[in-house]
Amino acid sequence: MQFDVLTLFPEMFEVLNESIIGKAKEKGLINVNLINIRDFSKNKHKKVDDTPYGGGAGMVLMPDVVYDTYKSVKTDKARVIYMSPQGKKLDQSKVEELSKQEHLILLCGHYEGIDQRVIDKIVDEEISIGDYVLTGGELPAMVLIDSVSRYIEGVLKEGSTKEESFSQGLLEYPQYTRPEIFEGQQVPEILLSGHHQNIDKWRRKQSLKMTLEKRSDLLDKINLSDEDKKVLEEIKNEVPNKVGTARN
Ligand code: SAM
Repeated sequence: MQFDVLTLFPEMFEVLNESIIGKAKEKGLINVNLINIRDFSKNKHKKVDDTPYGGGAGMVLMPDVVYDTYKSVKTDKARVIYMSPQGKKLDQSKVEELSKQEHLILLCGHYEGIDQRVIDKIVDEEISIGDYVLTGGELPAMVLIDSVSRYIEGVLKEGSTKEESFSQGLLEYPQYTRPEIFEGQQVPEILLSGHHQNIDKWRRKQSLKMTLEKRSDLLDKINLSDEDKKVLEEIKNEVPNKVGTARN
């Protein structure tokens, strides 16, 4: 998958060379091309921004410089995303949808933002990573690249994204590894039993429990089976556990 990132700060994207995403890049499963918007300035001082018409604080990125940067990478298949606090909030279903695209162009704003005329001209979609304002679109673009890349074949082990939080509308069950006893706490017996059917049942229950305790809002959005509903009732009648007690 091709990501073209239009940014004033390409150096910030160094972190994408680490770990799983770094390996995906090395293997050629994803390609992250960083294009410095400043390189397209026609100004001898490489100026890319100016004061806002109508007055007010801050600087606005100029439309022609952003447009020229975009033209250097655009293709017929490209989907252009402006990372913006005003956009639709990124969630797992959007991540999965974007992972099916061949070419994403991610536009990162800075300062007060970008002249509206070029946004209207080139952007297909605005995406936010949350209801707060950051200094630039670089961190949001990295969040998007990381989350989308996990869905590209070969980046993770097969099946890794199937059972994790949000993939089926629930949070994931708790995970354990060696040692079997840590600070007096034993790994749940069932996980050592080797009985896969019982383990799956236990994990489903834990998944429902985690979701009920931490994000009960998610339960309203999914279709639960009769068995799930029965298990949820059971959980509600159990004494609350010290770990992960209800927060909402
Ligand atoms: N003046 C803009 C407003 O109030 O809507 C905010 C501009 S912000 C300081 C600068 C840039 O950071 C934006 O153009 C956008 O690219 C990026 N940005 C800030 N917060 C973001 C968020 N929550 N999600 C995605 N991008 C964000």
